[in-house]
Amino acid sequence: MNRVFNFSAGPATLPLEVLEAAQADMIDYKGAGMSVMEMSHRGKDYPVIHDRAIADFKELTGIGDDYDVLFIQGGGSMQFAMIPMNFLGAGMSADYTNQGTWSGKALKEARKVAALRGATANEVANCAKDIPTRMPTQDELKWNEGAAYAHICTNETISGAQFKTIPAALPGVPLIGDMSSDILSCERDYTKFDMFYAGAQKNLGPAGMAVVAIKKELVAKGNEQIPVMLQYRTHADNNSMFNTPPTYSIYIFGLVMQWIKKMGKENLFKLNIEKAKKIYDVIDSSEFWRGTAKKEFRSDMNITFRLATEELEKKFLDEAKALGMSSLKGHRSVGGIRATVYNAFPMEGVDALVKFMKEFEARNG
Ligand SMILES: *Cc1c(COP(=O)(O)O)cnc(C)c1O
Repeated sequence: MNRVFNFSAGPATLPLEVLEAAQADMIDYKGAGMSVMEMSHRGKDYPVIHDRAIADFKELTGIGDDYDVLFIQGGGSMQFAMIPMNFLGAGMSADYTNQGTWSGKALKEARKVAALRGATANEVANCAKDIPTRMPTQDELKWNEGAAYAHICTNETISGAQFKTIPAALPGVPLIGDMSSDILSCERDYTKFDMFYAGAQKNLGPAGMAVVAIKKELVAKGNEQIPVMLQYRTHADNNSMFNTPPTYSIYIFGLVMQWIKKMGKENLFKLNIEKAKKIYDVIDSSEFWRGTAKKEFRSDMNITFRLATEELEKKFLDEAKALGMSSLKGHRSVGGIRATVYNAFPMEGVDALVKFMKEFEARNG
């Protein structure tokens, strides 16, 4: 076996223990005589996997029975469409912060729905093009009274900027968070959100679905005129089994939840801070490294930086790859270098990168 240190921003590295558990269960799941992939979602074994995954997720995020937890196909991007389709009715308005690629995409989808319905999607702050990259400050947020909801993205995966404190929305306006790339990675009060969601392939499991936590009272406000598969109500009323759910992805997601519980989330959150700090310490140590994000907003998950020239960056990436460190290239839209260190990314991989960075600087600085 020769696993590389995989710095990919998504699909991303999974805990080795999870992969091994899946491997052990692959052909015959605990005596069921078949793999999880082959089971009926309405049979004896699968619903147990499904419900345990939900219960563990609720426990880890600290949300109560006033929330539904849903598995919806189409990843994070489908949520960009479903949110306005459900909650942005004719004549209503919704608020969006725009601070990078992902929040910008969410806003764009809301504007499409708004244009169809005679509604408005407001951009309450825009720092999407700022360099260094950053999040809006609380003062910049021009929330609107009576908005149907306020939408934020807690971590901009591409720019490497993260909200360190969750901005407060106006009283009575439901707060919705795209947490695709930092869910369950740090201490956070999830009950501040009326809805939060994440494409699973960053911190939670395999690609292809979003995990959505949504207050039951918000589900009830959803538009009933749109196709049933696009209504949160449908998924909530059927425990995400209105149609065949992505059973195998949910099974792996469940194993990831068990892995977090076993290691202890406080322990995990501490390790995440340590991992990011080790890399930022190198970036801060000399002018050779040029961090992309403003210090007070820099992400503990996606660490973005540049070197003096693109040529030097290419050399860095090639040499890193040869040493078994893959996918350090920045997103194709921005270039540069991005070290993604989600929950499952091991400390040894961080240590290997830090060691390589120091050597590379000594040779090229
Ligand atoms: C990756 C990502 C998405 C999109 O997720 P898909 O599952 O690819 O649709 C949305 N928001 C953020 C913050 C992301 O990192």
